[in-house]
Amino acid sequence: MDLKDHIREIPDFPKPGILFYDISTLLAHADAWQVTMGRMAKAARVYQPDVIAGVESRGFLVAAPLALKLGCGFIMVRKPGKLPGGTVTHTYQNEYREDTVEIQDNAVEPGQRVIVVDDLLATGGTMSASISLLRKVGADVCAAACIIELGFLKGRDAIDVPVHALMTYD
Ligand code: IMP
Repeated sequence: MDLKDHIREIPDFPKPGILFYDISTLLAHADAWQVTMGRMAKAARVYQPDVIAGVESRGFLVAAPLALKLGCGFIMVRKPGKLPGGTVTHTYQNEYREDTVEIQDNAVEPGQRVIVVDDLLATGGTMSASISLLRKVGADVCAAACIIELGFLKGRDAIDVPVHALMTYD
């Protein structure tokens, strides 16, 4: 199955000049979503992860079912101020401004093997910041995974673990 058939490309969203790759249509198609998660699980299983970390917010939609499939725990990398209890943050510069990601300080045990998951890899800023954050709490980040990679932005060059993408746009 060609999963690209289930991705909508929406021009000028969220602002003029941006072509937005929309996974809503993939999520809404039962067979395509099953195939997506099957392929994700096949790529991720090789790393024998203990924990799957999802990046807010569409990353949660991919990471949570992946964790269930692999029998792993699921944890959330969130925007600041949304997680209760003790947290750890990491601030980074994205294309336009400074941004922060946050995690609960007890989200992983030191040394646990973690795969970081998002829906889409663009410049790699979000993914590499999430990896840095997870390392602050002692995670052994073993891979990154996404459904879509915008290859022309070369985001994977910013990431120092293996990156798995189910589809690439060049
Ligand atoms: P990056 O930090 O530049 O790699 O951007 C990746 C982040 O932006 C991910 O969390 C994506 O969910 C979001 N993102 C950027 N472009 C798109 C898009 O075309 N479709 C869906 N999400 C996008």
